Amino acid sequence: MKHIENDDQFGGLTVNKGVTQPPVVNPYLRTRRRRVLPSAAELVEGILKGDTTILARAVTLVESLSPDHQAIAQEVIEKCLPHSGRSRRIGITGVPGAGKSTSIDVFGLHVLRRGGKLAVLAIDPSSERTKGSILGDKTRMEKLSVHPDAFIRPSPSAGSLGGVARKTRETIVLCEAAGFDNIFVETVGVGQSETAVHSMVDFFLLIQLAGTGDELQGIKRGIMEMADGIVINKADGDNIPRAQLAQAQFRSALHLFPPTASGWQPEVLTYSGYFELGIPEVWDMIDRYFEFVDANGYFERKRSEQARYWMYETIDSQLRAHFYNNPEIERMLAEREIRVLNNQQSSFTAARDILDHYFESMK
Ligand code: GDP
Repeated sequence: MKHIENDDQFGGLTVNKGVTQPPVVNPYLRTRRRRVLPSAAELVEGILKGDTTILARAVTLVESLSPDHQAIAQEVIEKCLPHSGRSRRIGITGVPGAGKSTSIDVFGLHVLRRGGKLAVLAIDPSSERTKGSILGDKTRMEKLSVHPDAFIRPSPSAGSLGGVARKTRETIVLCEAAGFDNIFVETVGVGQSETAVHSMVDFFLLIQLAGTGDELQGIKRGIMEMADGIVINKADGDNIPRAQLAQAQFRSALHLFPPTASGWQPEVLTYSGYFELGIPEVWDMIDRYFEFVDANGYFERKRSEQARYWMYETIDSQLRAHFYNNPEIERMLAEREIRVLNNQQSSFTAARDILDHYFESMK
């Protein structure tokens, strides 16, 4: 073969003729056909029959950002709405490691033993961990994930908290229409997402740990104030006395809080998710709460307030999106920002100019 390196001066070296590489694409593979989108009517029919495969497809559309998907999703939600609302919605929060997965697994099985169906959803806007979430890892809830009456859905993938929360709220509607009469909404107890969960559940359960120094430290007062029940996990073995001490501390701390809007006095219990101790007691507390708020009318009132909240929340986010996604506004924002930073214009007149321009363009 004629090649410079085959020249005599490179004695000992020869360059062979190469081998033709096979094509990288398997020629036997059929080209993937794009899936045709299901119609809203088909989805609604499947959901109302309790078909979880169809429910999952509908939830995927709810979570999608594509306008085509959103159009179908909104129609499905609208049609499911009259069939929704008949469930117990329970928010569960706790810092990572508090034992949420372990607890939800046993709480869930306890609930399912009494009959009915359970959907476990999540709000975790921060997580990119498993491409969309804390619940991505199915092994986290070993028993529930294989239970025929449980539907586990990870958090919609990372985005703004409001956006992620709204999708979870919409998913609740679909799950209820599919006959799920128990809904757990999980969130990591570290930030703002508790407020979002609180705005869509009936009962808010805070999982705490004992023996981590000053028990009340690191828990935002606001989160404790939202809790209808505080449960101290890992009350097993040597940890029992510490859990009981924490229980006493939480109880006395709660007495300092103003009365709750429901009139319910939040309870503090200890349990062990891992060893399955004290689980029925936690659920008895939740049952008592539902009886209490059913009787005093707070249940209905809170649901109406939440519906109102979500109406305004949706308006708010749509308005913002409409404003910030306008190319003209984007350009103006960038330009005015520089002027403000260089002290060439005040923040207020810059804002006024941009808003004036926006309102003018609406006419
Ligand atoms: P999450 O991050 O809140 O979901 O917490 P996990 O459920 O993953 O639990 C964190 C760790 O605590 C795991 O190693 C569990 O095995 C352990 N754990 C959970 N519940 C209990 C419990 O009741 N007792 C004890 N001793 N350990 C537990």
